[in-house]
Amino acid sequence: MEVAGFIQEGEMGTNFKPRVLICDCCNEEFVFTIEAQEYFAQRGYLDDPRMCKHCYTKGKREKRAQNGNGRSTGVVAEPVSQNRRK
Ligand SMILES: [Zn+2]
Repeated sequence: MEVAGFIQEGEMGTNFKPRVLICDCCNEEFVFTIEAQEYFAQRGYLDDPRMCKHCYTKGKREKRAQNGNGRSTGVVAEPVSQNRRK
């Protein structure tokens, strides 16, 4: 599969590259973006995501609903990158 013009090596000063993964939940292809990989790395997750963002968010919401309390963990699906230059 060609992803021409999509991968920019060394541009961000990271080793991350966008990768296409298959969602365990809906079997759809989704892109594990550089931002998402940075987010995972910052949180110490070493494994690839098994679900697309949609299913992941949905699963998390359902899990929280099962716990009974709507207490927010403060986790936001937005990566905080300190050294991003634009
Ligand atoms: Zn999915």
